[in-house]
Amino acid sequence: MKVPFVDLKLQYQNHRESIDAAIESVIAETAFIRGKYVDGFREQFAEAIGTTSCVPCANGTDAILIALKMLGIGQGDEVITTANSWISTSETITAAGARVVFVDTDERTFNMDPAKIEEKITSRTKAILPVHLMGQSADMGAIMDIAGRHGLLVVEDCAQAHLATWEGQTVGTFGSAGTFSFYPGKNLGAYGDAGAIVTNDQALAEKMHLFANHGADPTNKHNHKIEGISSRLDGLQAAILSAKLPHLADWSEQRRRAAAAYSERLADIPEVKAPYVDSRAVPVFHVYSLRVERRDELQAHLSEQGIATGRHYPTPLPFLDAYAYLGHTRDDFPVASAHQGEMLSLPIYPEISTEQIDHVVEAIRSFFA
Ligand SMILES: *Cc1c(COP(=O)(O)O)cnc(C)c1O
Repeated sequence: MKVPFVDLKLQYQNHRESIDAAIESVIAETAFIRGKYVDGFREQFAEAIGTTSCVPCANGTDAILIALKMLGIGQGDEVITTANSWISTSETITAAGARVVFVDTDERTFNMDPAKIEEKITSRTKAILPVHLMGQSADMGAIMDIAGRHGLLVVEDCAQAHLATWEGQTVGTFGSAGTFSFYPGKNLGAYGDAGAIVTNDQALAEKMHLFANHGADPTNKHNHKIEGISSRLDGLQAAILSAKLPHLADWSEQRRRAAAAYSERLADIPEVKAPYVDSRAVPVFHVYSLRVERRDELQAHLSEQGIATGRHYPTPLPFLDAYAYLGHTRDDFPVASAHQGEMLSLPIYPEISTEQIDHVVEAIRSFFA
């Protein structure tokens, strides 16, 4: 039995009619750039997250950059973020002109540890950029509290956490802005690159829209109010996302069910630690990551059994070559450093079957037996 890490074909087969119809309409109407499909998705996504505004853009990396820049973050500023994420989270801080300041992760959730944020705050700190890694919300109560006390902005990287909640509130609605990726493998995936920013700040939304669209003056097409960039969500992707969005809550529930099935079956294997779920969080399991002994050997063993696995992430951000200039050592991030050799992500997607989950669990059991 083969168990892929993700299976995007099954989702397409299950929803082929609506997705094909969406694509055909866009082509028939040549609504490739701007227009009703982009406007439609913008409204639907804002409603799904529960914000007044949504600014679509080209990808989840641009979404962070646009939000940071339009919040006025740039040269001379520092932005505090987590040591464990995809590089988009930190490279956009640098791209905005600011300095990246990394914080170690929480022992159990792998998210930014709020207890270690305040020691990193200086007179130059402008914002905190938490990531809701693997689909579980960071501790937004503590983070918003710290931000409030120190007058800092908060931008949430929600690329892995569409519809996840913290104390009943949807991620992306805590800070000044929440950024999303619709990369094909994300929980809500386009058929190419796509992204969006959500906010309840109407003025900020207008600025972000302006910046993402060359600063084009909506009232005079020959004028540009500012210099911007070209970061558009195209019509095809918008229509595909609109066809998929109504299913996102069900898919999240299916991911939670798959995660629960793994955790229940793995509970009696002492070499394996299943993901910890904070009682205040409802995660959406973009990734289901274990901490295991003999990780590399186990990964090879699973691969031999036809089971694809992943690592999120094998090198904490501060230790990538790109951040050698910061001169960090493992002692600066003891938790992220300790986790880096232990984490193993198992296949998870809404359509994964009980048989596949059983196969993965039995393969892990046989390895440690
Ligand atoms: C995927 C991802 C992004 C960036 O998304 P793209 O659409 O690929 O640019 C940003 N942050 C995190 C945590 C991600 O997982």
